[in-house]
Amino acid sequence: MHAGGDASGAEVTRTLAAALRARGIAVLEHTVALEALRSADGVVCGVRTGRIGDAGELTDVTDLCARAVVLAAGGSGQVFTATTNPPGATGDGLALALRAGAEVADVELVQFHPTVLWTGAAAHGQQPLISEAVRGEGAVLVDAQGNRIMAGAHPLADLAPRDVVSATIAAHLRATGAECVFLDARHLGAEFLANRFPGIVAACRAAGFDLAREPVPVVPAAHYACGGVLADLDGRTGVPGLYAVGEVACTGVQGANRLASNSITEGLVAARRCAELLGAELPPLAEPLARPAPACLVDPSARAAITAATSRYAGVLRDAEGLAELGRVLADVPRPAGEPDLAAVEATALHTVATLIAAAAAARTESRGCHRRLDAPETRPEWQVRLVHRLDRAGLVRTRTVPVRVGADELVVA
Ligand SMILES: Cc1cc2nc3c(=O)[nH]c(=O)nc-3n(C[C@H](O)[C@H](O)[C@H](O)COP(=O)(O)OP(=O)(O)OC[C@H]3O[C@@H](n4cnc5c(N)ncnc54)[C@H](O)[C@@H]3O)c2cc1C
Repeated sequence: MHAGGDASGAEVTRTLAAALRARGIAVLEHTVALEALRSADGVVCGVRTGRIGDAGELTDVTDLCARAVVLAAGGSGQVFTATTNPPGATGDGLALALRAGAEVADVELVQFHPTVLWTGAAAHGQQPLISEAVRGEGAVLVDAQGNRIMAGAHPLADLAPRDVVSATIAAHLRATGAECVFLDARHLGAEFLANRFPGIVAACRAAGFDLAREPVPVVPAAHYACGGVLADLDGRTGVPGLYAVGEVACTGVQGANRLASNSITEGLVAARRCAELLGAELPPLAEPLARPAPACLVDPSARAAITAATSRYAGVLRDAEGLAELGRVLADVPRPAGEPDLAAVEATALHTVATLIAAAAAARTESRGCHRRLDAPETRPEWQVRLVHRLDRAGLVRTRTVPVRVGADELVVA
């Protein structure tokens, strides 16, 4: 799905925002969903929200009752130091659903985009993505000496699948100690690049690089969470009243390794199906318990340590030793009592996501899709299962495996 050259997402957002305005649907901006409201028998019947103040403080904490809650809170790329994802992609929708009793699956399956502009060792947060369409037009990956990175690594060379290109670059960086590789698009010409990739050319220029005149530095960075809240394609989670669509959901459509351009399509299809489902059978209004139990919040100052450790040990290439160390770092993160603010809510969600990734990536002793274990490089048939997690009454993570059955022309999740 493409619109506006390289601005598909902006076009989807513009269209949907206009549709909301046209129907007079109330939109609460600068407002965050904090906790699901639940009835005595566990039905989700609303959300607790907080308005985000100028300094990130939460004001006007309000309980909104609803017959259905549809989560569309996006992914969790911010759990890594560098990501293509926007600042809001902190996994707080996933963490909220988990606390509300939902199951989450496939969290270890994080897709890393191979060509994200490298803006220095201190880069953190959202980084500019250089679409593979640039390589599709003929740009190639090279090292500092101009040697092709992908030549011989895969029959499709620079057009190999994302996981292959990311893993090849990551292995090159490990072997050489280099901080980045380079994308050479000079031969495509300034005029062609400006017309075909206006957003990418502008992003490079803003970072001080000229895509038409020099090879630009790139590295792999976290891009898409294949995992999320276990849901079907109508958005149903296992919790009555709670629905999830888009990147926050894990329907299985993306398998262990999303193909480019399938995310927006999945989100649009699932959202429409969910709306049709709720139009036909909206659950009755349930009575919320007086107060949802407050989450035990993580100290926001721990955020940098959480993301640094997740990037180092659960990045493109993983092994048992590193994942165990990540688990230790996360277990030591302080949880002081204090007033909740947005920073604490986000740090807590990031900690939850990182903890799940560490545990699931350690458990999956094989390489599959975008999960690569250096110490278990083969794909193993006994791991043709999904790792599905939930919280028990004591708040401990419980994990079960669910077989993935592959038919002749279909994939069915049991
Ligand atoms: C740079 C980039 C390029 C991409 N290109 C493509 C592409 O070409 N094709 C494609 O198919 N996919 C692409 N993807 C992936 C795709 O854009 C995302 O998977 C998709 O936008 C996810 O949509 P979503 O509606 O589920 O979540 P999002 O679009 O991430 O929206 C989630 C929203 O929920 C808000 N939110 C989060 N938590 C809370 C909370 N607790 N309370 C209230 N609000 C909350 C967020 O602020 C955000 O506004 C790209 C992703 C990136 C980062």
